[in-house]
Amino acid sequence: MRITGVSTAVVEANYDWTFVRIDAGEHSGIGECFTAPGLTAIVRDLAPLLIGEDARDIDRLWSKLRWGSSGAGSAAGIVYNAISGMEAALWDLVGQHYGEPIYRLLGGKYRDSVRIYADCHAGEALHSMDATMVERPARWGAAPPEQVATGQIRNPEHGRAYAKGIPDEVFTPEMYASRAREVVAELGFSALKFDLDVPTPYMQDTASGTLSRAEVRYMVELAAAVIDAVGDEVDVAFDCHWRYQVADAQRLAHELEPLGLMWLEDPVPPENVQALARVTKSTSTRIATGENGYMRHGFREAFECGAIDIAAPDPQKTGGLLETRRIADYADTHYISMAPHCIASPIGTVAAVHVAAAIPNFLALEWHGMSVPFWNDLAVGFDGPVIDGGRVKVPDAPGLGVRLNLELAREYARPGEPFFDE
Ligand code: MG
Repeated sequence: MRITGVSTAVVEANYDWTFVRIDAGEHSGIGECFTAPGLTAIVRDLAPLLIGEDARDIDRLWSKLRWGSSGAGSAAGIVYNAISGMEAALWDLVGQHYGEPIYRLLGGKYRDSVRIYADCHAGEALHSMDATMVERPARWGAAPPEQVATGQIRNPEHGRAYAKGIPDEVFTPEMYASRAREVVAELGFSALKFDLDVPTPYMQDTASGTLSRAEVRYMVELAAAVIDAVGDEVDVAFDCHWRYQVADAQRLAHELEPLGLMWLEDPVPPENVQALARVTKSTSTRIATGENGYMRHGFREAFECGAIDIAAPDPQKTGGLLETRRIADYADTHYISMAPHCIASPIGTVAAVHVAAAIPNFLALEWHGMSVPFWNDLAVGFDGPVIDGGRVKVPDAPGLGVRLNLELAREYARPGEPFFDE
């Protein structure tokens, strides 16, 4: 099963959805990488390491890619975004070769469908940003508010206010509550996540990472409004995007305790695990982190010192599907649940679904595509939408079980980037 080709394509959606295709014999496999500057150039530079190799030696090839880029930082970083997509493409390829779905190659499934949590951003979803996090006009244009489906952008200015740190009418308990009600009623999710680090009228400073007493009160009101709106049967998490000092994060987590959050995510910056552990150990609010963790090694200290209640590695970034499974196994030795981070297209999301199906300690998988009107349509092979009633049915077809809708991908292809080998 010799590899004969490696190619890439980028679709401009809310993020740059970056795809890798690997060809071997009569099959082609597809994987998705977490967006990053220079990503497809990295894939192209790594590709010769795979040409002529037997695609079935996935783990050895993964190591070969790692060591091939070791001088550039084998411990972590953007190179792993590239390697993650390449590894996932190999799983799709090898699954097709053996006529088995990926989850079965990862050990078989614990569940027939996977629970998805809807990322609701800051009440109105993120519009579109490039790989350097600079906002750009969405390629699908702005629809008039009355024609906008659940989850799509009503007013891009709201997202800009978030980015600029300006309080806005959508960052209010009333708006958060109505948004939560809408997503649950219309899309059927049983788990949601909102941003809690929004600009508030009480903000003293955007740079210091401190929180005034009034800001903490306001943030608790935001969280309480969502939880009251959806009731006990919907779990709710809140994300802080690494923004606060330890003492401020501790106070916030403490004040949120009566609400019983699904988790509070990334309350302090990601580099200092011991600082996060101080927050986690100080509160009964469950603390999640992991989207910037690379490989099992990137989670070792956090698991061992009790800094994490819920692990959130990103399969398109952390090292791939098998590595996500390894992190899950490592988490399980500490009785820690997995809630994988995911901002991918349906291709990357379904790849994550295979891993989520194959691990025991799974809580929920992220969906960050609510603002993209063609999200469900980019995958071919599902009977109906990929996400249905807040869950994804685990595909039984060989490999990934879905294919990229090439026509649609071409329509939104990023100008100046190759579109596979066309
Ligand atoms: Mg996050």
